[in-house]
Amino acid sequence: MKFDTRAIHVGEEPNFKEGGMGDVVVPIHLSSTFARAEVDTPTQGYEYSRTQNPTRKALEQRLASLENAQYGLAFSSGMAAETTLILSLLKEGDHIIAFDDLYGGSKRLFNRLFKARFNIHVTYVDARDLNAVQAAILKKTKMIWLETPTNPLLKICDIETISEICKKNELLLVVDNTFMSPYFQNPLKWGADVVVHSSTKYINGHSDSVGGSLMINNHEIFEHLKFMQNATGAILSPFDSYMVLRGSKTLGIRMEKHQTNALKICEFLEKHPKVSKVIYPGLKSHPEYDLTNTQMSGFGGMISFELNADLHKTKKFVESLKYFLIAESLGGVESLIEIPSLMTHASLTADDRKQIGLSDNLIRLSVGIEDSEDLLQDLDQAFYRIDT
Ligand code: PLP
Repeated sequence: MKFDTRAIHVGEEPNFKEGGMGDVVVPIHLSSTFARAEVDTPTQGYEYSRTQNPTRKALEQRLASLENAQYGLAFSSGMAAETTLILSLLKEGDHIIAFDDLYGGSKRLFNRLFKARFNIHVTYVDARDLNAVQAAILKKTKMIWLETPTNPLLKICDIETISEICKKNELLLVVDNTFMSPYFQNPLKWGADVVVHSSTKYINGHSDSVGGSLMINNHEIFEHLKFMQNATGAILSPFDSYMVLRGSKTLGIRMEKHQTNALKICEFLEKHPKVSKVIYPGLKSHPEYDLTNTQMSGFGGMISFELNADLHKTKKFVESLKYFLIAESLGGVESLIEIPSLMTHASLTADDRKQIGLSDNLIRLSVGIEDSEDLLQDLDQAFYRIDT
């Protein structure tokens, strides 16, 4: 089955047996517990909904299939997935190497919880520099954590080469694939051990459900994660599982449209005299453009750019837009805009932002799937308003 077919059918095959009624959409199984006819035999394997639930299971099968993984697990948020992953696979005193331009919430989790309370230290490196990755390995290092492209600077690192470094040093490789979605990038294919998603973003795609997922090939790792998911209880609810099953059906066509719109917007921004820099993986000017073309099958819908303007005028530009809503998050059908230094990355110090190259007037767009002409007109009128 090709991607778009899997996105519609896997996990929602009609059940004609076992009392099934042939539903073409998996029902929302709200039952918290499952009665059994005999003490020793859980009914069709279901005991209690934290441990497993039929709607969540359908989604987990769908998610695994979309990432070309053996196993998938669905969590109550991307952060719950990350927390469960670290609790399952690391212990006190272990060390992680992470890309320095990670999602701010991941850094907060690493620094304020795992480092502060569990003595699990993290070294942040620019993972585009393979020597820096290699040099950061310590005796205690157990895991390398990547996000590619990164948020918001869209830096891209070489998953396959880093996975070879991991194999040589017996390290686990985790890749947060939220920005590309399984439609444009499959890190397991390049040697990752675990793929993380905030399904809040492209996978669900409609800004109406918070969720996360882990996709894995290795059975032993899956068993550890599944045990911890049940032990800590960080599960996706039956209703949210249904929402993500529904949203994921159109992932392919949404990603194509996000990308088509993003390319048109980049073309417009690159020519605009008020724009000093445009960052998008699909532009030849992107420093990792060649890698982008081998590692990913598309470029996605995220664009970052800088205005030839101070922060005051940058805010005025953003506030003048009609269709680009000022909001954190990304990956939904509606276009969103934000200023990372004031919003998603405000928790980083000015020095930290400077070190990773994040300027105060950088703007991040999550390009939606509206008509591109309306989006271009909206940007055009906001540029005009900067100086009025
Ligand atoms: N990873 C990335 C790249 C993200 O952008 C986010 C949220 O913005 C997360 C993880 C965390 O996901 P959630 O907000 O679903 O907990």
